[in-house]
Amino acid sequence: MENLYNEFIKKIDKTKVYLNEPMCKHTTLKIGGVADIFIKVENIEELIFVINKCIERNVPITVIGNGSNILVKDGGIRGVVIKLQLNNIDFIEDNLVNVQAGVLLSKMSNIAYEKGLSGLEFACGIPGSIGGAVKMNAGAHGKEIKDILICTTYLDKNLELHTINNKENEFDYRCSRFSYNKEDIIISATLKLKSDVKEKIKLEMDSNMKSRKEKQPINFPSAGSTFKRGKNYITAQLIDQCGLKGYNIGDAYVSEKHAGFIVNKGNATAKDLLELVEYVKKKVYEKFNIQIQLEIEVMGED
Ligand SMILES: Cc1cc2nc3c(=O)[nH]c(=O)nc-3n(C[C@H](O)[C@H](O)[C@H](O)COP(=O)(O)OP(=O)(O)OC[C@H]3O[C@@H](n4cnc5c(N)ncnc54)[C@H](O)[C@@H]3O)c2cc1C
Repeated sequence: MENLYNEFIKKIDKTKVYLNEPMCKHTTLKIGGVADIFIKVENIEELIFVINKCIERNVPITVIGNGSNILVKDGGIRGVVIKLQLNNIDFIEDNLVNVQAGVLLSKMSNIAYEKGLSGLEFACGIPGSIGGAVKMNAGAHGKEIKDILICTTYLDKNLELHTINNKENEFDYRCSRFSYNKEDIIISATLKLKSDVKEKIKLEMDSNMKSRKEKQPINFPSAGSTFKRGKNYITAQLIDQCGLKGYNIGDAYVSEKHAGFIVNKGNATAKDLLELVEYVKKKVYEKFNIQIQLEIEVMGED
């Protein structure tokens, strides 16, 4: 890995490339062992350079955005973790914007507000990047990224760029075609917004943020809702009805505020969190005969 590291720093600023980097520094859960190499990539040229070097040496690649929907196991991630920091925002028309994958949803919603553009109010409190949001079809307050997305550009494993329309993204509840085409890397998304009164946009953003503060345990590290909502049930309610609020394994706790969130109250390990996940699943299954599913993505080695 050191040789590969040395090759990377010939082209990429040394301050952006790390050997044996703890992933707990790059996930909102603040959990995770080391990545062999962790690299912040700021443009497509650098991205292609890094991928080519990894292909030459047969080194696995993992791409992350803001690390807000992942649990990295305690043994860390072998190979190279690329944190995409492609941050361009390009208004093609007044209400049509091409946003690169690394831009944070919170930043983009604020820019939209400043320009009097509506459509991203739902996303102002979701702590992810555009890339992560497209992959997960992130949503809140009854809206999802798919509602405003015109097209997505991605890089495939042969380093070819493709642009696909909304339908071709195969959006569904918290997933998209990128959930199973795992080697494709989202580069940017074009979003269609609509002109509206700034005060109205602000009111909706404030109300969304207020409801988050009231309902979610945002004072503890988490990855948001740990489990997916069901088609005809609300998973957090099932967990609550099992009496699991406040139940813990080590420092991993079922939040007392919102049973759908597992939070890290200190030094939780991935092992603690995964054991708690299994316990919660088992209890819900025993009481309701329902198999609840993880929303967060588990990565890395034990
Ligand atoms: C407090 C809190 C509240 C949350 N609330 C919500 C909510 O209301 N609604 C909601 O939907 N989610 C919510 N989340 C979860 C999370 O913010 C979203 O899923 C978000 O879209 C993930 O984006 P990310 O950039 O952090 O992705 P990451 O966590 O970095 O990655 C998630 C997945 O996407 C992949 N990925 C990331 N970028 C790319 C790319 N460019 N190309 C290909 N694959 C990529 C990663 O490999 C991984 O598989 C919340 C999380 C927290 C911590």
